[in-house]
Amino acid sequence: MSNMPKQPVFDGHNDVLLKLWKYADHEDAVSQFIAGCAGHIDVPRSQKGGFAGGFFAIYVPSPDLGIDMDVDMIKAAYELPLPSPVEYQDALPIALSQAAILLEMERQGAVKICHQVSDIRNAHKAGVMAAIMHMEGAEAIAADLEALDVFYAAGLRSLGPVWSRPTIFGEGVPFRFPSDGDIGEGLTDVGGALVRKCNELGVLVDLSHLNEKGFWDVAEISDAPLVATHSNACSISLQARNLTDAQLKAIGDSKGMVGLNFATAFLRPDGKMLRETPLSDMLAHLDHMIAMCGEDHVGLGSDFDGATVPVGITDVAGLPRLVQAMRDHGYSTTRIDKLCFENWMSVLERTWK
Ligand SMILES: [Zn+2]
Repeated sequence: MSNMPKQPVFDGHNDVLLKLWKYADHEDAVSQFIAGCAGHIDVPRSQKGGFAGGFFAIYVPSPDLGIDMDVDMIKAAYELPLPSPVEYQDALPIALSQAAILLEMERQGAVKICHQVSDIRNAHKAGVMAAIMHMEGAEAIAADLEALDVFYAAGLRSLGPVWSRPTIFGEGVPFRFPSDGDIGEGLTDVGGALVRKCNELGVLVDLSHLNEKGFWDVAEISDAPLVATHSNACSISLQARNLTDAQLKAIGDSKGMVGLNFATAFLRPDGKMLRETPLSDMLAHLDHMIAMCGEDHVGLGSDFDGATVPVGITDVAGLPRLVQAMRDHGYSTTRIDKLCFENWMSVLERTWK
């Protein structure tokens, strides 16, 4: 590894809040995040890896379906059953609890919750992790959309209308290989209203997990850049969660953004969720997404703490190995800085109010 200064990484997706929410004592969970804890991300390893922050997802887990993703997703072909919808009254307390954990993280000095790009740059200068409060699946918002105002006041600046299961707003894609995302119906009327309200507030609308009809509905309704925070290219890994070339081109045309998902099942041409996945598979997706979107509209969206990532990275402390792989692949310093940090800043400038 070279002696070059550490490349900062701003990242499109993590599931740290879900990880900490599973602890019995949330205040103690945050203390452990600061001291060092299990999983992919904590403060000491973030400093080691140059992790400057990213999108922290509020996510309401589905009840256990009795399926083992690690077993099913190493088969030659698979279609995991979609969990049933989660009702608003069941989702809301969990979403509030995870939002409260992010607020507690800020109180203990682990993160700064950012509403402006200048907040992110200032946090980075101060050596504090920058956090965007994101909601993955909007079950905690009812059809009247009032809860969106409350979450916005608490700091929410990014929202995906669906995780993979259906909501009142639209339909997501199942974990299915080989398959593109053209599964099911598009946005509902209230889904359209949600997108318009997000536009008014300057809340980023995340397209990752939406099915293809829903994607094109958002493209038509939204006046903001199109953003898929953590998705890859169908033409390399034909995953329902990945994007077709037409979708990638639309993202580029809108001056939007796609974040490279590190989940090995979405990287590998054979769709298998295996740790033993070479970093060259990540570079193949980056090359292709840059060819489709342009190098100003591609970044990283790790899915740390939510997926199996390549053994060559292992956790957030391994990010410099990805940066080195980009250098070895011939990417310039400028391109690497765009992919790892600056492109997210630019698209947030174009999206937030
Ligand atoms: Zn996700």
